[in-house]
Amino acid sequence: MKPNSENKFPLYLSVVIPVFNEQENLETLYSRLKPTLENLKTSYEIIFIDDGSMDKSWIIMEEIKKNDNSVKTFQFNRNYGQHTAILAGFELSKGEVIVTIDADLQNPPEEIPKLLKEIENGHDVVGGWRKNRKDPFFRKFISQMGNKVLARITGIKLKDYGCMLRAYKREVVERICEVNEFSSFFIPALAYTYSNNLIEIVVDHNQRQEGKSKYNLLKLAKLNFDILTSFSLIPIQLITLLGVFIALFGGLFGLILILVKIFFNTSNGILSLISIFSVFTGILTFFLGLIGEYIGRIYLEVRRRPRYIITNSKE
Ligand code: UDP
Ligand code: MG
Repeated sequence: MKPNSENKFPLYLSVVIPVFNEQENLETLYSRLKPTLENLKTSYEIIFIDDGSMDKSWIIMEEIKKNDNSVKTFQFNRNYGQHTAILAGFELSKGEVIVTIDADLQNPPEEIPKLLKEIENGHDVVGGWRKNRKDPFFRKFISQMGNKVLARITGIKLKDYGCMLRAYKREVVERICEVNEFSSFFIPALAYTYSNNLIEIVVDHNQRQEGKSKYNLLKLAKLNFDILTSFSLIPIQLITLLGVFIALFGGLFGLILILVKIFFNTSNGILSLISIFSVFTGILTFFLGLIGEYIGRIYLEVRRRPRYIITNSKE
């Protein structure tokens, strides 16, 4: 591990923990995290971000902080979501390496040294991969489907999007903090975008220690939809394509009806109507998609994400 004095940053490691109603887990988490960090023989801080908890989480954090200077606690006025909490932790952190971990002990804190080893090996983002994930079947199923669809559409090829046991080098975190977007914040995908040398390693995964998952089906769907729309314009492009297909179908159908009329002298009013209707619906859908494409481009413009990142240069 690098000694602290050589580094630009005051600390080697910041551990960022988003907390939303985790009163039953915090003490156990701290009691396992603390010795793990002590064993690293390096400087560190533990940052708890209370994401608007309604239970005793904040009081417990304060209690922990009273006896430990390396603990920092921040409280949101309301619930903003896990990724916003982590972003706040990033902005408040002082470490050269930043590790994120869930508060519910699904990610064992004992795995942190494994992540740090990969950082020392030169990777700038180390993602945890829950190969043996201990979540309910339906949850794993949705994630697996989501992972595949998202990898295909967004081009972000991660084995595990959702695992939040991750380590980042400072420069990647700073790039993520520069992204000034209010909606659709998804940190692993942004980290993928701004990383230079990412690796995913298998980490242990356990069942949630206490309490319930903070994600229901609706929240999960929203999260996946957010990633989809904030990292690609493909949904709207599919609509444009759909318009073309509907119009083509209508046109072809109409052509067949005309041929039938010419050769067999029969016609059917309803079928003709369907054909005309399809052509117009197709054209309208196509135009909607086209307008959507322009709106999508405005969306890309206003986000002002950096177009590229230069990691090395020699002049
Ligand atoms: N969390 C948060 N804000 C939220 C939802 C979750 O800070 O709105 C925290 C939560 O306390 C936990 C972590 O994010 O530390 C992961 O949440 P959870 O375990 O509910 O997610 P799951 O493991 O089911 O994906
Ligand atoms: Mg969990």
